Amino acid sequence: MTDHERIARLHREAPLTDVHVHPSLKAYLFRRNLWRHYTSGRTFNPFSSRSDFPTLERGGVGVIWATHHLPEVQLFRQCLLLRVAGRLLLPAYKKIVTGGRMQRLIEMIDTLEREIARRPDRIAVAHSAADVPRIRASGRIAVVHAVEGGHVIEDRLDNLDELSRRGVALLTLSHFFDNGIAAQTDGGIPRTMFIRKLCPFNFRWAQPSALTPFGREVVRRMDRLRMIVDVTHCTPEARGAVFAEMEPSRPVVATHVGVGRLNPDPYNLTDDELREVARRHGLVGVIFMTYWLRQPHPPEDGLDLIWRTIEHVHTVTGSFDHVALGTDFDGFTDPPDDVRDASMLPAVTGMLLERGMAEADVKKVLGGNAQRVLAAGWR
Ligand SMILES: [Zn+2]
Repeated sequence: MTDHERIARLHREAPLTDVHVHPSLKAYLFRRNLWRHYTSGRTFNPFSSRSDFPTLERGGVGVIWATHHLPEVQLFRQCLLLRVAGRLLLPAYKKIVTGGRMQRLIEMIDTLEREIARRPDRIAVAHSAADVPRIRASGRIAVVHAVEGGHVIEDRLDNLDELSRRGVALLTLSHFFDNGIAAQTDGGIPRTMFIRKLCPFNFRWAQPSALTPFGREVVRRMDRLRMIVDVTHCTPEARGAVFAEMEPSRPVVATHVGVGRLNPDPYNLTDDELREVARRHGLVGVIFMTYWLRQPHPPEDGLDLIWRTIEHVHTVTGSFDHVALGTDFDGFTDPPDDVRDASMLPAVTGMLLERGMAEADVKKVLGGNAQRVLAAGWR
C-alpha cells in the first residue's frame, strides 16, 4: 500500500475532522459559491477559499465543525481603514453593521445550508452526534454547526435555545471584544497583522469581568441544552470560571489554540488547563497559525509546530485522547505555507505517521476524539 493510499484510508476511518473552520463566513459576506475553489493564497488574503467543498473533498475531510461567526461591529467603529474597505464592499459591510446580530447569524447558517442542499449526494448537515457516522457511511461530508462569538446571542438566553434548535452543537463564548458573557484575551488578532498596526483597537470593557453573571447563566443553560462550551478567546480567568461553573461531567473544549509551553500567550492553554480538559474528557484543537503556536514565530512552515503542540498535549495529559485539528481556515487567518488549505491536510497525516505515531492514535487525533466529544457533549 502506498503512503497515499494509507493516508486516504486513515482519513476515511478516522474520519478526518476539522473542529474549527469557517466555510460560511465568505459565502455569506461575499455571496460565494462553495462549490468553487477560488484561491488559497500564500499569505493573508481576505478573498482566499481554503475550505470550499471541492477543497475539503480533495483533502479527504469527512467532518467539519462549520463555525459561523459574524464579525463584531466594533471592528469597524474603531478602524477607519476597515470602514473604508466596508464602503468598497458595501453589501458585506451592511450585513455586519445593520440588522440584528442573531438574525444575521441565522442568515449565515441558512447560506451554508443552501450551498449544502445543492449537492445532497456529497455533503449533509448532522443534527445529532449519531448523524455523523450515518452521513459518513454514505460517503458524504458531515457538517456540524458551531458558532464563534457569544455576542450574537444579544444577551438573551432564548437565543441560545434558538441556536440549539437550529442544530448548533457548540458555542465559542468569547471573541475579539469583551462581550456580555466572558472576557477575551486582548490578542485575538495577531499583533503582527497589519490591521493591528493601523487601528488602535480597544478590545476591553471599562470593567472587565472574567465570566459575567449572565455568562454563568449561559454556561448553565448550555449544559442543560447539551451544547458544547468552547473556551477559546476567553482569558485564563474566564476559562477558570467556566470550568468552575460547568457540570464536571460535561466535556470542555478549546477548538483553535496552541499551548502556553511553546508560546506563553494568555490565548494558549497552560499545562494545568490541558490536564483540566483531559479530566473532563474534552479536547484541544490545534490552530493552524504559526503566530499562536510559537513565539517568535517562524513566518512560513507550520507542520513541525503542529506536531510539537500535539506532542506537548500528549506529554502533559499522558495520551492522544485530548487533541484534534482546528485549522481556522477561512476565518480571515494566515495559515502556514505547508498547509494552506484543506486539500493539504494529508501532509499532516503523513507527518504524524512519520513521527512514529501508531495508526490508532493518529485516528484519534484526526477525528476519533472529536466524535467522542460530540457524542458525550451534544445530543
Ligand atoms: Zn477564533
